[in-house]
Amino acid sequence: MPETPLPALHGTGTAAARAATVADFRHNLDSVRTRIAAACARAGREPASVRLLPVSKTVDEARLRLAYEAGVRDFGENKVQEAAHKAEAMADLAGLRWSVIGHLQTNKAKVVARFADEFQALDSLRVAEVLDRRLQAEGRGLDVLVQVNTSGEDSKFGLAPDEVAPFIRKLPAYPALRVRGLMTLAVFSPDPDRVRPCFVRLRELRGRLRQDAPDGIALDELSMGMSGDFELAIIEGATVVRVGQAIFGPRTTPDSRYWPPGR
Ligand SMILES: *Cc1c(COP(=O)(O)O)cnc(C)c1O
Repeated sequence: MPETPLPALHGTGTAAARAATVADFRHNLDSVRTRIAAACARAGREPASVRLLPVSKTVDEARLRLAYEAGVRDFGENKVQEAAHKAEAMADLAGLRWSVIGHLQTNKAKVVARFADEFQALDSLRVAEVLDRRLQAEGRGLDVLVQVNTSGEDSKFGLAPDEVAPFIRKLPAYPALRVRGLMTLAVFSPDPDRVRPCFVRLRELRGRLRQDAPDGIALDELSMGMSGDFELAIIEGATVVRVGQAIFGPRTTPDSRYWPPGR
């Protein structure tokens, strides 16, 4: 892919105003979809090839119901307990899908197995094993993405790129997990020249993994890109973009609660 300059596409200031009505949500969703379509046009891709996953962490139930009225059916949540509470409180709404996108400890895996439709942050066999066991007990399956640390930062969860191939070879042992692809968080930087290589790394890794992926493991999905960098991610091949603040507005809770500074 040629290096096209991306001046207006990336950076800070990408949170929308706080959405407090259904009309606000329609407006913010429209503008995110317009940005997705523009990035797709630049990349010669179909807008339908990119799934928008609205990320609703810190957003309360009342506002999630407004987003639902504006057409949102998928919600991405970073913390399991927060997600499980919302899923329970909103069980009256038809067609909701909950996607857990944050690091999971084995002791929370049983909660995920009960309510989640997708888990995007798989990075340990211990978690895979507990999830699979609990899912089988529930008679459920779960779409999973393997999280990869493409930035090399200690603060980011995920497997190192060279750990992913041997990891994926072990996943057929957990049949309740439907492995769909890879997820990453790029480095947080306003500089596209630092962000973009993370996305390139994930796409190239998928290309290599596909060559000897075990039967039944489809590596179609690349979940990468957030409010500040999803256009770049789309240009580099994202099939899922996880967008919070450009839809819901700025978060008041500091992100350090979701992304611990070290581990
Ligand atoms: C919060 C979060 C996002 C969305 O970030 P925004 O800046 O609100 O778009 C994406 N991915 C993960 C893993 C997150 O925790």
